[in-house]
Parts: sequence; C-alpha cells; structure tokens
Amino acid sequence: MTTVVAYAAPAAKAPLERTTIERREVGEHDVLIDIKFAGICHSDIHQAREGWGEAIFPMVPGHEIAGIVSEVGSGVTRFKVGDRVGVGCLVDSCRECDNCKAGLEQYCTGGGVGTYNSVGKDGEPTYGGYSEKIVVDENYTLRIPDGISLDVAAPLLCAGITTYSPLKHWNAGPGKKVAVLGMGGLGHMGVKIAHALGAEVTVLSQSLRKKDDGLKLGADHYYATSDPETFKELRGTFDLILSTVSAPLDLDAYLALLRTDGAFVNVGAPEEPVRLNLFSVIGGRKTLAGSGIGGIQETQEMLDFCAVHGFGAEIELIEASGINEAYERVLASDVRYRFVIDTATIQSMGPA
Ligand code: NAP
Ligand code: ZN
Ligand code: ZN
Repeated sequence: MTTVVAYAAPAAKAPLERTTIERREVGEHDVLIDIKFAGICHSDIHQAREGWGEAIFPMVPGHEIAGIVSEVGSGVTRFKVGDRVGVGCLVDSCRECDNCKAGLEQYCTGGGVGTYNSVGKDGEPTYGGYSEKIVVDENYTLRIPDGISLDVAAPLLCAGITTYSPLKHWNAGPGKKVAVLGMGGLGHMGVKIAHALGAEVTVLSQSLRKKDDGLKLGADHYYATSDPETFKELRGTFDLILSTVSAPLDLDAYLALLRTDGAFVNVGAPEEPVRLNLFSVIGGRKTLAGSGIGGIQETQEMLDFCAVHGFGAEIELIEASGINEAYERVLASDVRYRFVIDTATIQSMGPA
C-alpha cells in the first residue's frame, strides 16, 4: 500500500478536507497515474451529500481524471511510463456479462466498480481523483491524445462521454435538430459535440445569461426556459432533446417540444423523482429514454473525436482548497463550465 494525499468528505454533507488514503500496490495489469487534474462533476456533489442514497465515507470524489503514467505492472501492454492518460467513472467491471462483452461496461450486470463510492474486487472502497495518485487496471485507463491539454481533457472523462454517447446513439448529425437542456458541465460539452457532429443545436437554459457563450461554443439558437413564449415557439421542433438538468423537470412541457418520433434523452440525475403524464409520449410516438456515461472503447473514441475537432472543456482551474466553494457555485448554476482541480495544490500544502 502507498499513502497518498487527497481531499475527502469525512461524512455526508460535511465539507471536504485534506487527508491521506491508501492506494493498492501496482498489480500486474495496473498503471500508477500521477494525477494532474480532476474535474468536479455534479455527481460528486450528489454523492458527497448522499443525495442519491447511502454512500461510503470518507469519500474522495472525482471521476474526471487526467494525469501521467509513472509506473506500470509487469503485464501491462498498452501504456508506458510518461503516457498521458485519463480515468472516468469506471475502474473495473465483470468483463463477462453481455454488456461488458459489447463494450457497454457502464451497464455491467456482474458488478461494475465505480471510481469512488464503490467497492473494488479486492473488497476495499474505491477513492477518486481529488488525490495525487491513483492505481487503475490498464483496461479501464484511457489515452489522452496529444492535441488536448490535460486540464481541459479531464472533464471529457465524464461530461464528454456522457453527452457523446447518447448524441451518437440517437444519431445527432446533419439535418437533425438537437436541443441541449441545461448549460453546465455536461450541457456545454453536449453543445460542442452536437455541433461537431453537424446537428442544428439549440440551448434551452433557465435564462439568457450564458447566451453569448452558448453561441460561441456552437449553438445555433438559445432560448430561456423561464420565458413561457419559448414553449409556444418551439412546440414540435426537435428530433432529440438531451437533458443534462440536475433537478426535477416538468417532463410534459419538454416532451411537447419534440416532433413526431422525437426522443427526449435524460442524462441528468436529480435526487427527487419526476412526474410524467403518459399522454405526453402517446401523441407523436415519442421516446423517453436515459443514458449513462459510456463504455471504455466509446470513451476512447470520444477523446479522439474531441482531439480531431480541436476542443476540450471550458474550465475554471481551482486550487484544492477551493473545492467546497466550487460545490456551492455548481449548486447555484454558477459554473463556466467545469471546475477543474489542479491537484498539485493538494500536495503543495505539506504533509496532511
Ligand atoms: P451542472 O454543471 O450543475 O449543470 C446542470 C445544469 O442544469 C445547470 O448548469 C443548469 O443549466 C441546469 N439546472 C440546474 N438546476 C436547475 C433547475 N432547478 N431547473 C432547471 N435547470 C436547472 O451539472 P453537471 O455536472 O453537468 O451534471 C448534470 C446532471 O447530470 C447531474 O444530475 C449529474 O449527476 C448528472 N450526470 C449524469 C451522468 C450519467 O451518466 N447519466 C453522468 C454525469 C452527470 P442552466 O444554467 O443552463 O439552466
Ligand atoms: Zn460525472
Ligand atoms: Zn459485466
């Protein structure tokens, strides 16, 4: 075991603080990664506050990890010391179920292992990216293309793949009208990716505060959902609505914005259930679906896609001591558009 410094929530809803955790020894198929940057996903906040139910504490959140390989196990074939790598929401899965075999490890039915707030195959709790180092099986480690710097690459490991996967699955592309609902960490990546795929992109945000940014990132149109006129004007418009909203929504109002055979795909994970009038999907043969992150191979495809198109995330780089304040700003929809922790600032504070 190796002791490393990290930022952890000691208990549900408690502020995160500096601490130390143990990382396992580098196994035959493992890589040791010096973490350089870790994104703050809204899912970190849901879990650190037990908004999704009971969680494991202390919790070191962080599943948007970018860093450099500093050691490899004897059986590692895909990575060498010095490689630029990333880790997302998954660090292991059963590798045998139909989903794992199909590259859909995120839907593993045999026991997937989350990057944190999960229990590894060794029976130990997993700890995430708000930390100086992590040990990960090479099969769950991604390669970050040279064209993307590590700080703006980190958020791609969750926000990027969570929007890329459904946009691809539901065929966002030329001739398709796609709405991205919510312009936060996931939403702004949804705009960039849907635009790069060639779709006509509309942002549906609570206000017009971020309109200039949305248009710069590739949106063709931008509407405020606080304005009732938006729902009249856009009725029956979209082939696909991708909802990234972290709070319960009036689904019926948004389903009315789909055209016949359109799909409303939800990736937001609110802590409360939502109501739905089923007539909202009967008229117009509409689809209401969900999607969770993406598989390992698809995550690599997404990273390569972003490199080809020359973009990462729009980030605000923070020191580790600013994590608690950043959480409050995410909760207030005051993020442009992803907080990323410079993990060197965890180490530079001296021994924990
Ligand atoms: P975020 O940066 O906080 O963005 C969420 C956006 O939703 C906000 O920027 C805001 O956009 C909008 N919003 C927030 N509260 C709202 C409200 N009460 N009514 C209407 N709109 C509201 O969060 P994120 O990191 O992108 O994550 C978004 C959600 O996706 C979270 O619930 C997260 O847990 C979930 N998630 C799911 C997956 C998955 O695999 N399915 C993966 C990652 C994250 P505007 O300011 O533009 O209105
Ligand atoms: Zn996430
Ligand atoms: Zn599996």
